[in-house]
Amino acid sequence: MDGGPWGAIIFSIFADHTRLARVRTDSMKGRSPLTVEKVVIIGSGPAAWSAAIYAARAEMQPLVFEGAVTEENRIAGTLPLGQLNLTTEVENYAGFPAGNLESYLDSAIPRETRQTMAPHTKHGVSGPELMELMRRQAMNFGTRVVTDDIVKVDFQRHPFRLTALEGEVTEALSVIVATGARANYLGLPSEEAYKNRGVSACAVCDGALPRFRNQPLVVIGGGDSAVEEATFLTKFASRVYLVHRRDQLRASKIMAQRAEANKKIEFVWNHGLSEVLGTEKEGVKSVLLKSTKDDSSKKLDATGVFLAIGHTPNTGFLEGQLKLTEKKYIVFTTPFRTFTSVPGVFAAGDVADDYYKQAITSAGTGCMAALDAERWLAAREH
Ligand code: NAP
Repeated sequence: MDGGPWGAIIFSIFADHTRLARVRTDSMKGRSPLTVEKVVIIGSGPAAWSAAIYAARAEMQPLVFEGAVTEENRIAGTLPLGQLNLTTEVENYAGFPAGNLESYLDSAIPRETRQTMAPHTKHGVSGPELMELMRRQAMNFGTRVVTDDIVKVDFQRHPFRLTALEGEVTEALSVIVATGARANYLGLPSEEAYKNRGVSACAVCDGALPRFRNQPLVVIGGGDSAVEEATFLTKFASRVYLVHRRDQLRASKIMAQRAEANKKIEFVWNHGLSEVLGTEKEGVKSVLLKSTKDDSSKKLDATGVFLAIGHTPNTGFLEGQLKLTEKKYIVFTTPFRTFTSVPGVFAAGDVADDYYKQAITSAGTGCMAALDAERWLAAREH
């Protein structure tokens, strides 16, 4: 997440709000309150849009609740278009080998809005661009989009009942939940201030950006993600400090051993991040670490800080309605299917995946969920 001031991103989100709000009005126009939707998709990341593209092409007239543009969602990292909208370059989404997608982009994002989005280095597509392109592709096939959160569901009755933030109730014969997950941050004000300018929660997304090349970097965490991110970052960094609050990793042995054997990784045990230091112009310059054993602190020079302290799935509104794991991810009840504990409700993407967590795997399960929903409805002659 680098390459542009956070303010520009906020501006782009809120500049977009007018457009999103207009789409909402259009989408809902003429819809009778008695209409029962064939399929409602909740979410707006790669899983949701891929599900919508497949469902729309199968003539299921999908209705997508893409999330609300609220200050609460901004702070939580759950604004429409998901985690990819919070990053810049995407170089590992198959089919986008280079930038310069001008004519595609013209079809999806007004030029004025594009000027406010984070610039990229043309080695792929940017996260926000990819999401806008997917959204446009879904809408081209007739997907209707509502810019609102679903805050309550009733899956005990059929048709299912979904209540939006603004109180509107929608009934649906099938539902695809693709609300994703949000990266955990520590909640430090300095961490928030330097997001997009050196603070990231996704090394795979951002590690190759110029500001991290041949520079010392810091990874916070001690699980598989932290070890994997630290190892990945050694491709670019001059040195990677892996800072963990204990003196023992949580990561699996094999991954820990790989990191221990990597000469570019230096472990900083029994420390936590207390402050990110930098300048308005240059972004992150160093970090202040506090010992978890005593009152001592130390400062390390670094141009990047990567948080790898776990993710939280966006499933708060599903409590008591769907079977969730201990970590609150949706449980897939059948191998290689997107079925959940409630027949007719399907899940896709990071909301049911604490392991792969990639845009392309999310898109794949989105496609699967739409096919599963279509077949489930067909078997019931809907
Ligand atoms: P995780 O296993 O939950 O580890 C989170 C790490 O962050 C822990 O070391 C934890 O410290 C630390 N942490 C949590 N809150 C913190 C805080 N407030 N301050 C400082 N440190 C904090 O999460 P994960 O590493 O993202 O892994 C999630 C799952 O994905 C796991 O099942 C993992 O095996 C899997 N995964 C697998 C691979 C792979 O096999 N290639 C790669 C990535 C993830 P403590 O240890 O002290 O609790």
